Amino acid sequence: MSRPISATISVPNLRHNLHTIQGLLATTPAPLQPPHVWAVIKARAYGHGVAAALQAFAQAQGLAMLDLQEAFECRESGWTKPILMLEGFFRPADIAVMRAGGLTAVVHSREQIAMLQAQAPDPAGPLNVWLKLDTGMNRLGLSVDDLPGALQALQTLAAEKIVAVRGLMTHFADADGNETTTLQQCRLFRRASDGLGLPVSVCNSAATLQPAIWQSFPAGTEQWVRPGIALYGASPFDQRPASSFGLLPAMTLTSELISVRSIAAGAGVGYGHRFTAPEPMRVGIVACGYADGYPRHAPTGTPVTVHGVPTRLVGRVSMDMLAVDLTPVPQAVVGSPVVLWGEGGPGVDAVAQAAGTIGYELLCAVAPRVPKNYRQ
Ligand SMILES: *Cc1c(COP(=O)(O)O)cnc(C)c1O
Repeated sequence: MSRPISATISVPNLRHNLHTIQGLLATTPAPLQPPHVWAVIKARAYGHGVAAALQAFAQAQGLAMLDLQEAFECRESGWTKPILMLEGFFRPADIAVMRAGGLTAVVHSREQIAMLQAQAPDPAGPLNVWLKLDTGMNRLGLSVDDLPGALQALQTLAAEKIVAVRGLMTHFADADGNETTTLQQCRLFRRASDGLGLPVSVCNSAATLQPAIWQSFPAGTEQWVRPGIALYGASPFDQRPASSFGLLPAMTLTSELISVRSIAAGAGVGYGHRFTAPEPMRVGIVACGYADGYPRHAPTGTPVTVHGVPTRLVGRVSMDMLAVDLTPVPQAVVGSPVVLWGEGGPGVDAVAQAAGTIGYELLCAVAPRVPKNYRQ
């Protein structure tokens, strides 16, 4: 028999989250019309699986990801709309593959432009590109000073039918935090992009959830937002839960108690005896550990729900198991259901916060050995 752990992916909740974001983009006084959404499905759709994401995000205008193989999976599954490759091509040979797949490449460096300049025209047609500007993230992107030269080079390549420039993008460093940084990046981007007449794309989830950011662009600008985490029902913000935006958790990680024990006051639980019972108590052992993707750093007190009752983790997370406090759950027995995060349990963001990380990491880290169920 297989271990009782599994991750349930809700296709309706993924779909609901996309609709919620599309609804937000219709916010007055300056709705994005029509709304253009790149649904970000990198890292196998933040751990939810590409197939479920494709089904749920059928109404998105495009998909954004990193991995060529995943992009081809999407094409083979019948996705005909644009696919944006967020890191573009890595070596010259990727360019022909991207053209053949009708993929759209982010061009973020002079080195990539040089690779394009070494290409010959191709009967597969030009490679669609979005040029990426670095406005302060200091990660990927051309500097604003390099933009005129880059545009000129791309114009030459466009005349040779090697590329077609589809838009200009940038990425925010702190859209979930410091407003000043975001406004500064916006200003720099606007100075470079206004008047070029190109579609633009600047907003990740955090910026998409703040209409003031995308509404600050000139009316009539074709603007593509790039939400990721919000689509999966987690929050990009420390202090604002996903539910406050009407988002629903798309992944629920569940398991069961595989052992229940009564321990004496002073008894230690698990490796290193990191938790010692202050009084006699019942402890449950859950079939879920760090080899399933549960964070090993989650300390005593991390929220977990057992038999429908919120309680806490105690002691160190092991490779295959973790221990929970059954004091508030006298009805718990071997086989009682446990929700590690998701519907009917703590939010993934609350678990992440307790473990000193972010929901993104937990969702992406769910291990391949955890079976996935898809709810339609
Ligand atoms: C991952 C990513 C996004 C989505 O970010 P979220 O915070 O998950 O919304 C958007 N744009 C780029 C360039 C990314 O790499």
